[in-house]
Amino acid sequence: MGKRALVCYCVDVDACAGWLNTTTGKSANASDVSRGIFGANVGTDRLLKFFDEQNIKASWFMPSHSIQSFPKQMAKVRDAGHEMWVNSGLHGYTHEYVSRLTEEQERKVMAKSIEVYKSFTGKHPKGWAAPAWEVSPRSMKVLEDFGIEYDHSLMHHDCQPYWASDVTENSVVPTNYDADPGTWMVPMKQNTVRNVVEIPANWNVDDWPPFQFSTRNPGTHGYVNPKDVLEQWQDQFRFFYRENESFVFPISIHPQVSGKSNIILMHEKMVEFLRSHEGVEFVTAAQVCDEFKAGTIAGCSTMELGALPPKL
Ligand SMILES: [Zn+2]
Repeated sequence: MGKRALVCYCVDVDACAGWLNTTTGKSANASDVSRGIFGANVGTDRLLKFFDEQNIKASWFMPSHSIQSFPKQMAKVRDAGHEMWVNSGLHGYTHEYVSRLTEEQERKVMAKSIEVYKSFTGKHPKGWAAPAWEVSPRSMKVLEDFGIEYDHSLMHHDCQPYWASDVTENSVVPTNYDADPGTWMVPMKQNTVRNVVEIPANWNVDDWPPFQFSTRNPGTHGYVNPKDVLEQWQDQFRFFYRENESFVFPISIHPQVSGKSNIILMHEKMVEFLRSHEGVEFVTAAQVCDEFKAGTIAGCSTMELGALPPKL
């Protein structure tokens, strides 16, 4: 069997939701909300056109707030005719950071997200991406309980799917400078592997940090030349392609970022580059999940990653 490089375009329609998650309880900035409106409308339209022209099926992850606030726009994604919507996943309600929620809050948000998704599509969602990829120690268990088949948030690997496990609070002991070192010099404990396929997240192939300038978020940059980012993404792909017989290459983008003119042009060059490699397939995250379960893509073994650390 020849080399297989499974490329997934993962689109997070954070729209206004991401800007409502101020994390301080303060009201959202009106200009930020305006950026979100661009993403839900202009940005989404441009990406739909781009995927249509490129004949690519993408995986769309939507906060429920985006579905309920921009139903006509999100219906365009649902009805686009190239099966994008059926392969899309959940992405919180207001892009809240799950890592800051109590278990009760996390479960309530998940139940509401599924309810909104099902009433809009008639289907049970297959996947989930944690807003900002900030999972809680129990998120994989919550996904398992709600019948979600795959996650796209963890980073145990950067180019192979694997069975996900929680990283529970009692599996790691943080350094405590006020306590005797003997109390925290302990190795990691094994975590429970869940019935959830991980399609790994990778900040190194994400449009937000390099391209989204924000005065209120020091984690973002903006003003990076897309040619430099293109080169970084291409180099990562080259390495994975050289080192692996099969691998997954998820590209994470946002309509309010990649819907900008110069960044769309970068994606056109990226797709052309990817298509110049034998064995490249543009697939949905749902397909990667199904192939991993069926064993048609090897992925990474649970013993190596899911049940950290291996027993001595
Ligand atoms: Zn997001």
